[in-house]
Amino acid sequence: MDKQAKQALDTGLESLQNWKESYGAWDVDSTLFVSDSKAEEVFTRLSQRLKCNYPFHHPVYAGQMLKPPHPITWAAYAMAMSINPNNHALDGGPPSSEMEKEVITELADFFGYGKNYLGHLTASGTIANLEALWIARESHPDKMIAFSSNSHYTHERMCGVLAVDSIKIPILEDGSFDLDKVNPDGVGTIVVTLGTTGLGEVEPLDQVILWAKEHGVRIHIDAAYGGFFRTLKDSELIDGTSWKLMQEADSIVVDPHKHGLQPYGCGCVLFKDPEVGRFYKHDSPYTYFTSDDLHLGEISLECSRAGAAAVALWATLQCFPLKENEGFGAIMAKCRQAALKGYSLMENSGNLVPYKKPELDILGYFPIHQSTKSTSQISELSKKVFEKGMKDQSFYLSLFKVPSLEFKRLHSEYEADTETVTILRSVFMRPEQLDFVGELISRIEKVI
Ligand SMILES: *Cc1c(COP(=O)(O)O)cnc(C)c1O
Repeated sequence: MDKQAKQALDTGLESLQNWKESYGAWDVDSTLFVSDSKAEEVFTRLSQRLKCNYPFHHPVYAGQMLKPPHPITWAAYAMAMSINPNNHALDGGPPSSEMEKEVITELADFFGYGKNYLGHLTASGTIANLEALWIARESHPDKMIAFSSNSHYTHERMCGVLAVDSIKIPILEDGSFDLDKVNPDGVGTIVVTLGTTGLGEVEPLDQVILWAKEHGVRIHIDAAYGGFFRTLKDSELIDGTSWKLMQEADSIVVDPHKHGLQPYGCGCVLFKDPEVGRFYKHDSPYTYFTSDDLHLGEISLECSRAGAAAVALWATLQCFPLKENEGFGAIMAKCRQAALKGYSLMENSGNLVPYKKPELDILGYFPIHQSTKSTSQISELSKKVFEKGMKDQSFYLSLFKVPSLEFKRLHSEYEADTETVTILRSVFMRPEQLDFVGELISRIEKVI
């Protein structure tokens, strides 16, 4: 596939070269000259250094939320980047701005917002959430923002940046929010995470909607990680309840650079009510707007943004539609099935215990020996297995800390002699891992 993309990119760049030359011949300035030998030398050293990465491309990598973009995606990105359009203003890149509007229309439609919405791409999920929380503050200047203890750590940080008070919602044993502990009069916006960063848990949007509607509280959905799982909302593979209700929320964040096959630098924020655009109004003298059409820079917290990111996502969605049985749905289904298969294999393993049943494609688990009795022993063994796999280059996992009290709720047979327990965590983001997960688990068992 890399070869296919390289060829497509070659052809594309050649075609662009003709366009560039159509403006007449010009000499590149001598200050920009790099000799062939220098370029070769630098790239030789560079490839050596880049090989110090973990193998994010390979099914042996079952650690963090990391994988390379699709070859079609990086080829499209590189091609657009050779022009380097800036999607701040239409003048900065008319075609890439058009493509951004098209992908935003597709995403808004995918999440059920229909034709009325406001949205754009961002540098990341953090920036997209910052923007949503900023609109939350502008909408309810004197009220707090509420989120659960499982939400991404940047919500609390961004509330600090925005000088907004926040409140952490306790989570009950069954995963529901303990909303009795939250005074609705003080809350302007509540954050619901569909697919938490830790273990891919889906927070109870159905419960929150009832509460929020009753008390006039806005809802923000953080689906930075999980958003693309909405393709499976009508399937048997996941519990679709919350996914089917996303259109009820006031804003939604999704990270195409997580499950959307994009390189880093691609988040997205969507607002249900286009009227929030009024909070963005400014009249800077630097902007050079040439038309009355919507300039994305007019509805974005950031100024310069990579037009190439929009082009890459556009090209990706041409090849992988947001459907259940083709494109993204087919990919997400395999990732989900890989986690389920891993879970059931571990249920029958003598050495590996699933921490809890995965809701998406992230699995928490821990290794044991016959003599393992306490959380400290589990933590120690988890770290040993984690390190040994990397040392032998046979598997790559991640570590995850759970409060021992929470751990005991599910695994009461172990003594809690530490405050937290370190377990293992695998994010199955590669559809290839559905076939590989059996082999992965037997490699881990061998090490234990
Ligand atoms: C990854 C993640 C974020 C942060 O997004 P970045 O793109 O890493 O800045 C926010 N929320 C959730 C649920 C995430 O998984």
